[in-house]
Amino acid sequence: MPNGNSNGSDTGAVVAAVLARHGSDGTRLMQILREIQEETEWLSPDILTRVAEGAKLPRGQVEGVAGFYHFFHTEPLGSYRVLWSDNITDRMAGNADLMARMCKKLWLKPGKVSEDGLVSVDTTSCTGLCDQGPALLVNYRPVTRMTAERVDQIVDLIRHKTPLAQWPAEFFHVDDNIRRKDALLGADFKPGDALKALKSPQEVLDAIKESGLRGRGGAGFSTGQKWDFCRAAVGTGPHAAHYVVCNADEGEPGTFKDRVLLSSYADLVFEGMTISGYVIGAKKGFVYLRGEYRYLLEPLNAVLEKRRAAKLLGKSILGRTGFDFDIEIHLGAGAYICGEETALLESLEGKRGVPRKRPPFPVTSGYLNQPTAVNNVETLASAALIAAKGAAWYKSIGTPKSAGTKILSISGDCERPGIYEYPYGVKVSQVLADCGARDTQACQIAGASGLAIAPNEFGRRIAFEDIPTGGSFMIFDNTRDMFQVARNFAHFFVHESCGFCTPCRVGTTLLANAMDKIDEGHGGEYDISDIWRVIRTLKTASHCGLGQTAGNAVADTLQKFRPSYELRLNVRDFEPAFDLDKALSKMREVTGRDDPGAHFHINHRKSRSGLGTKAGEPS
Ligand code: SF4
Repeated sequence: MPNGNSNGSDTGAVVAAVLARHGSDGTRLMQILREIQEETEWLSPDILTRVAEGAKLPRGQVEGVAGFYHFFHTEPLGSYRVLWSDNITDRMAGNADLMARMCKKLWLKPGKVSEDGLVSVDTTSCTGLCDQGPALLVNYRPVTRMTAERVDQIVDLIRHKTPLAQWPAEFFHVDDNIRRKDALLGADFKPGDALKALKSPQEVLDAIKESGLRGRGGAGFSTGQKWDFCRAAVGTGPHAAHYVVCNADEGEPGTFKDRVLLSSYADLVFEGMTISGYVIGAKKGFVYLRGEYRYLLEPLNAVLEKRRAAKLLGKSILGRTGFDFDIEIHLGAGAYICGEETALLESLEGKRGVPRKRPPFPVTSGYLNQPTAVNNVETLASAALIAAKGAAWYKSIGTPKSAGTKILSISGDCERPGIYEYPYGVKVSQVLADCGARDTQACQIAGASGLAIAPNEFGRRIAFEDIPTGGSFMIFDNTRDMFQVARNFAHFFVHESCGFCTPCRVGTTLLANAMDKIDEGHGGEYDISDIWRVIRTLKTASHCGLGQTAGNAVADTLQKFRPSYELRLNVRDFEPAFDLDKALSKMREVTGRDDPGAHFHINHRKSRSGLGTKAGEPS
């Protein structure tokens, strides 16, 4: 088989072996399904039944989980599953033409499986490779820097059923692209440095508080306070315990800093988790790694093994009796919503990633309803540095309200995309100058749910008190169409809404439909008012942050880049999105007719819209 998979072999044996490896534990359902799928290529009804029986879970629950995540499939999608990253920066780099070329050469339609069951080609949301796109995943392994030549080579490899292990290694090469280092990326840090400097848990907690460290995921909650609440909370039930969770589900479009931290600074991250465990009294930590970073799983496990061998993990860390802590990596399966911490915890427990109601908060009732500290990758790496170098050192960097540094993932229209670390307080204009951006029309900061800023705001600063961000920094020059940027994000949210609550499930779709309608030339002022109504509903009635922020990009671009909408507002009053005349085109094709009688009331429609007729058109 192309992957060395055992598809067609004894699936029963595969399922039994995977279940045994996980002790048939239902809370490990995500990993069980992933590992089975890696062997069998897809999750057949028979496999789901066997898993449900083996893990003693309702069959419907197993099917519900398999159906929820984009990277699980309950129907065959081919031995080669190609997914093109479809973030706006991939589009700017030409992914659509390249994907069309691939589909044409494979005689395939996007989203369909080839007749011989060999291959399918489709799109997926941002894969975190925006600095080296257009990118794709083939059987969930990333291929960067796609070109027409590389498309042709891949098509040949697929046609010849070449196993991925025999594909050219450079296809899978992912660069770090670190362009600017500061206190964190430039730190002189050896594994164990922070652990060797440890004082009592209370003293470490005091130092974290004193440093002013705030969560780097975007929300900016005080890390010391979070750890304090968690440490004070009491575990309940027979398995009472505290947990540390590292949120490495970096799914915000345009963000890829955690990818680099995990590939080149994993020791720092793991050490931060260990310190967190020491402070809150946890013995177990999880890294929730996004499915797109599956390729990092083995290297990360190798770092964990090294740390165990060096007594930096495991029982009696560095000889301290009672200081026991270990880390396990849990892989996600392509659901952006799992970046939301309560959805992440649900997923970690083997369920669909649907956000929980809050309160209770994870610090008191997190993983398995036990006290849990959930922190971002960059936050944990910063915590390790603070433990090693002290609060005063850290506090001296950045601004009074935003201590330390921020790592930005820069992509889009600039000469040097990649990773840039700055002390908090850096001006947007400085960032643009450093990465070689020219004629910049806009920056989208903090991803699809973030903020679009225009040139008159480039004097603003990256800081919690001005522009907070998880790290996404996308640049658009004067040649770009900001309407299309917002439209891409509107579709992203349709794809990523978990579907739990109606305002978000329906609202994101209405918003994307309205943007499509305007794009197709059927939009007018009525549609703009409609868009504002939908954005208000999303913001006020959605259950979680995804829905509440899903309209941000459209709102910002409507306010700041209005001409890109005006260009398309062809209709004075209202025109339905459904075009009956267009819908009849298939029948015209079949019947070979194109006379006026085969068209839907063209004259009537045009006079209503106030457009009139153009010279040469039927009147
Ligand atoms: S707002 Fe959207 S993502 Fe959040 S719970 Fe509702 S449907 Fe799910």
